[in-house]
Amino acid sequence: MTTTALVETKPAATLVKVGNRDRSLVGWKYAAVEAHLFDTHIQKGTWCDVGCLAHTCFSRDTAANRKAVRQRLRAVARQMITRHRFLVVEYAPNGSGTHGEAHRFKIYEGADEDERQAAVLQLDRMRQRREITETNYEAAKKILRVVTSVELGAVHA
Ligand SMILES: [Zn+2]
Repeated sequence: MTTTALVETKPAATLVKVGNRDRSLVGWKYAAVEAHLFDTHIQKGTWCDVGCLAHTCFSRDTAANRKAVRQRLRAVARQMITRHRFLVVEYAPNGSGTHGEAHRFKIYEGADEDERQAAVLQLDRMRQRREITETNYEAAKKILRVVTSVELGAVHA
């Protein structure tokens, strides 16, 4: 019997499958969000987005539920660092009508250049907005280095 590290990190019984979608059994809980990001998105190699998480945790993808997801996303990003992972968040670009809003996100794997750049921007943004302590900032840089060996020093020069 073998268990991968990925399976071991999966919290028990926070999600069920309804059709081919995840449904949280516990509403919005960090464990459910993390399990969804692993079970569905890491496995498929896809990014999650605000609507998907609204559907997963709040049952319906509505404007109010999307707003609730956005309000909680920063806390998830912070908590993930304390669990030695990094939540990469891409923000809506200029001129899209929702400038600066969280668009899509995933647990950092350093899979490609887009993801690596998004991670660097995200960490920079968290620091500039003082959403992250210096300790967690250093911890996050370490996580990114371990995963991809990306050098972040130049970003803040
Ligand atoms: Zn999702």
